[in-house]
Amino acid sequence: MMLSERARKLAPSVTLQAAAKAKKLKAQGNDVKILTVGEPDFATPKNIQDAAIQAIQSGKASYYTATPGIPQLRKAIENRFRNVYGIDFQDENIVVTDGAKFALYSLFQAILNEGDEVLIPVPYWVSYAEQVKLAEATPVFVYATEENDYKVTVEQLEEQRTENTRAVIINSPSNPTGMIYSYDELKAIGEWAVRNNVLIVADDIYGRLVYNGNKFTPIASISEEIRENTVIINGVSKAYAMTGWRIGFAIGNEEIIKAMIKIGSQSTSNPTAVSQFAALEALNGTQEVVEEMRQSYEERLNEIYPKVAALPGFKLKKPQGAFYLFPNIKETLDMIGMENATEFVDALLEEEYVALVTGDGFGSPYNVRLSYATDLATLNEAVDRIARFIESKK
Ligand code: PLP
Repeated sequence: MMLSERARKLAPSVTLQAAAKAKKLKAQGNDVKILTVGEPDFATPKNIQDAAIQAIQSGKASYYTATPGIPQLRKAIENRFRNVYGIDFQDENIVVTDGAKFALYSLFQAILNEGDEVLIPVPYWVSYAEQVKLAEATPVFVYATEENDYKVTVEQLEEQRTENTRAVIINSPSNPTGMIYSYDELKAIGEWAVRNNVLIVADDIYGRLVYNGNKFTPIASISEEIRENTVIINGVSKAYAMTGWRIGFAIGNEEIIKAMIKIGSQSTSNPTAVSQFAALEALNGTQEVVEEMRQSYEERLNEIYPKVAALPGFKLKKPQGAFYLFPNIKETLDMIGMENATEFVDALLEEEYVALVTGDGFGSPYNVRLSYATDLATLNEAVDRIARFIESKK
């Protein structure tokens, strides 16, 4: 079969692959504890479901919409995020997309040329590097240290900057580490980026999922100059338990947004109409459900974190947001004679039916990712099985 160079070089998403493998084992009747998924275990709230049903039955979801999204939804995004970002933006600054993932994809297609470089802090969300490559540009990895809570510093970014550096990706709270950059850290990075004409791609998708009094600062809210130099990526998937609906958006410079709309017009036409009406209710309707789900993740984090941190050889600081634990298990691997996290994850799934994601796809071959967006009984049982697995290998 003739495949493009592009397709052949593209790595599949390790998180989606791990989830598929675990689901297959479960479908065969095995009692698999699945901690791979990067999505809420809650069903989409009832008011949002009802709005979608109404949109279908009234016929208004039957048709193509404007490429950048229905006007009411762009307005709702403006209204909901004006306070969060402390900024006024107009319709021209917003494009609604098929999930935040496609917002990132079309952004990279819109701004990158061959030879351009994008700075990506490691550990990173699995799709950033592959999407940059799909735009013929080069991902440049900036290795954050565990001592600095897996956050990069201006010095580290400056070290990797060249005349080809076009953008830097900031994902706070982070998938996979759950760490949040402070106001001061973001101010320093923002000012450095403005000074050096490096566009900031702010992936704020976990901004509403922060715990135990920790605070999310959007980098775009720090100053006018930084905002003008930032494209914000956000969406409804994580906060509203709407991963399946595929609605995300980008907010930024009008010229960039216009280019993204042009790309949308020649690729997807528009995000699915019924999903846009659902997202409209998510943003305009009651926000109590978001807080209830947030509290539930916080409870799970507080119960499961000490247990995971106490597993033999696991090194892990308490996450501040998102819904993942990303322990370094190098000591465990040494203890049980394994090479890397992939070997650990494969054996654990085979022997104990517990599904985790290897850190490999996040640029961290000695870490594993556990999602706690699942019920406590599953989490507790999974941790017991991991403990038994390690014990059996010692
Ligand atoms: N950015 C990060 C950091 C994510 O973890 C995810 C989903 O896993 C996305 C973006 C994409 O979200 P969406 O479902 O809106 O495409």
